[in-house]
Amino acid sequence: KAAGRNTYALFGEHMDELLRTRRALEQDLRLALREGTTIEAVFQPVFASDTGELTSMEALARWNHKKLGPIAPDIFIPLAEETGLIADIGQIILDDTCRCLVDAPSTVSIAVNVSAIELASPSFPLRVLSTLESWEIDPSRLELEITESVAVEKRGAVESNIASLRGAGVRFAIDDFGTGYSSFARIRTLEIDRMKIDRSFIQDMEQSGNKELVSAMIAMAHARGMKITAEGVETLSQCQALKALRCDNLQGYLLSKPLSRDMALSKIGSDTSE
Ligand code: C2E
Ligand code: CA
Ligand code: CA
Ligand code: CA
Repeated sequence: KAAGRNTYALFGEHMDELLRTRRALEQDLRLALREGTTIEAVFQPVFASDTGELTSMEALARWNHKKLGPIAPDIFIPLAEETGLIADIGQIILDDTCRCLVDAPSTVSIAVNVSAIELASPSFPLRVLSTLESWEIDPSRLELEITESVAVEKRGAVESNIASLRGAGVRFAIDDFGTGYSSFARIRTLEIDRMKIDRSFIQDMEQSGNKELVSAMIAMAHARGMKITAEGVETLSQCQALKALRCDNLQGYLLSKPLSRDMALSKIGSDTSE
């Protein structure tokens, strides 16, 4: 019994500390957003699998905390979602994306991750379109990545926002395909331009049966007139297998890590499409 109480006391203290840490991090995030210098986008190149050409990039949020150093998006994005700060981060990333698109060849597009909360917000389409307009960027050069679970909640709001943005030329991709619930069933009812196969499927591709699964995803995307990207490509054999399966685009550490804006732009300049 004594040990039991002890465990609870420890648990309680630990929870307290976690909550304090979380509140402190939230404060820091608010401050970072107000100052506007420590949160920015990096860009991971995406390549056409047939020509090897750099066709697009994915914008990924980075927070360089003044004292703690880099904080992973898996930590600060959920925190921002829970504290109502996600739209502010989304706007920073969208502005960084436009700044990069302005200096990139017009054939290059950039994909931006959108959280469920942003996508369901009534002001979202106008915010995106007016940002594109102020940078004089063609909406077809922006792709928005959403997850399948997003699409389940607030279905009406999400669908009408997708429709108005697609009407203006913005493209949509389903991110982390295969990891959500109702994957295949859900995709049928959404107007989507691309699927991104989650990297867990790519990592396991060498194991028996998994190549067939990836092949089925590619066939399904193509049958529905969608493009398909494999993410998390880390080895040459994964790369070759995906090329053979006619996966349209490839992304992963084997091809390029996420890069700063300047590095990404110089990579486009030097891209010779092997
Ligand atoms: P995601 O959208 O699935 O992004 C892909 C993640 O995989 C990125 O992690 C990227 O750096 C990493 N990655 C790319 N290639 C490889 C590879 O070959 N191997 C491995 N192991 N990883 C690879 P990152 O940048 O840490 O982002 C994590 C997640 O945070 C993202 O997953 C996305 O869900 C979220 N996120 C990042 N930026 C934003 C943003 O601006 N807005 C929102 N709403 N979410 C974001
Ligand atoms: Ca993504
Ligand atoms: Ca993904
Ligand atoms: Ca993800």
